[in-house]
Amino acid sequence: MKRQILVVVTTILFSLSFDSVSARFFPNITGLPPLPFSKNGTLAPWDAFTKFAGCRSGEKRDGLAKLKQYFNEFGYIQNAPSNFSDDFDDELEKALRVYQQNFNLNVTGELDDQTLQKIVLPRCGNADIVNGTTSMNSGKSASFHTTKHFHTTEHFTFFPGTPRWPDHRQDLTYGFADQLTDEVKAVFARAFEKWSAVTPLTFTPTDSYILADIKIGFFTGDHGDGEPFDGVLGTLAHAFSPTNGRLHLDGAEDWVVAGDVRTSPLPSAVDLESVAVHEIGHLLGLGHSSDENAIMYPTISSRTRKVELGSDDVEGIQYLYGSNPNYNGSTSTTSTHERETSDGGVRDSISRWSLGVILTVGFGFVLL
Ligand SMILES: [Zn+2]
Ligand SMILES: [Zn+2]
Repeated sequence: MKRQILVVVTTILFSLSFDSVSARFFPNITGLPPLPFSKNGTLAPWDAFTKFAGCRSGEKRDGLAKLKQYFNEFGYIQNAPSNFSDDFDDELEKALRVYQQNFNLNVTGELDDQTLQKIVLPRCGNADIVNGTTSMNSGKSASFHTTKHFHTTEHFTFFPGTPRWPDHRQDLTYGFADQLTDEVKAVFARAFEKWSAVTPLTFTPTDSYILADIKIGFFTGDHGDGEPFDGVLGTLAHAFSPTNGRLHLDGAEDWVVAGDVRTSPLPSAVDLESVAVHEIGHLLGLGHSSDENAIMYPTISSRTRKVELGSDDVEGIQYLYGSNPNYNGSTSTTSTHERETSDGGVRDSISRWSLGVILTVGFGFVLL
């Protein structure tokens, strides 16, 4: 019976899918029943790591090799062999200690609960450590850590070599690989605005994806850049350093583009604008920050909204580009406005979304 329903719904979805988009977008509608094509029943890619609770050096556990792959993916283990072992060896302990330092966890070198809870969170696909050049907390000098001012100092980081958009390329265009609705495009416009408000940079949409300085696309799985996406949750998106301009989002996510993501009925709902603001930071030259309040912090939980630049983000981006002459040194005004609209704007956003629109964009088609 369930299968028959699924077939019928799938047929409807296909017949309505005139706009081919390789991602699932959702308005937030409280009480919306779980959509038949959501994958809520499946585990997020890293949930299995929770079985390693309490695991420490010298032990051997089935699947630890996958955790080593995780640490390799985000730069904590260099020079991956063809096969990682399931041994909790010195290399894993060392990686774990650096990870714990970067995420402000107790540096135990063991897979304690706090650390595992952080590891399984959805996150940006960009590595925390690029080419072995450690950034975030672990890259700061030892004396830096021992100062009592540690918590008030900057955490922002850059890519190796500190690449930035040159002075003659600060009015940038952006284009999309996919046919997107105006609602989705508006999400990106708002995300770019966060960065243009504090810098002299400007961002203008263009219809020419090929000619755009910044190329945005939703992709699933392996999409040709050696950084395959992994389905629902896990890695959400990634972006390249200046002046590459590529920003890729995982088309398998349940992207929320309108309404309050915090009350979404989908446990896997991810706020598109929050992720876009983060990835644009990479496009402009910022690496990951250990400051949990910073947009450039690597993880974000599902059903969470975080779109305002933190002071760490602002200091970092202004180090690269200087300040916008109109920037008054505070983002608090926009914060208040944002909270108001996300709390009170749900009904308005529902009215803009008919079920047809949901279904039309609901099923993932890869254009490319
Ligand atoms: Zn990132
Ligand atoms: Zn990619």
